[in-house]
Amino acid sequence: MRAQEATWPAGFACLLSGNLAAMSTATTQLWICESCGFIYDPAEGDPDGGIPPGTAFEDIPEDWFCPVCGARKADFEPYEG
Ligand SMILES: [Zn+2]
Repeated sequence: MRAQEATWPAGFACLLSGNLAAMSTATTQLWICESCGFIYDPAEGDPDGGIPPGTAFEDIPEDWFCPVCGARKADFEPYEG
């Protein structure tokens, strides 16, 4: 039984705990940039843009912009994978 837990990749365990933390305050909804196709994943955030992993798109500051093409938040739309 315990051997199963030990075989979990460390990254997978981190992902699980991250999702649990995100569930209470955030969403897993992906958003796509209409200009360049960049997909914002709340689980990853945008560390280069000052957005920590686990940040819902709704919680991103209004002055944030697409890290790829510079489009504004308003240029993103919900992405249905
Ligand atoms: Zn873009």
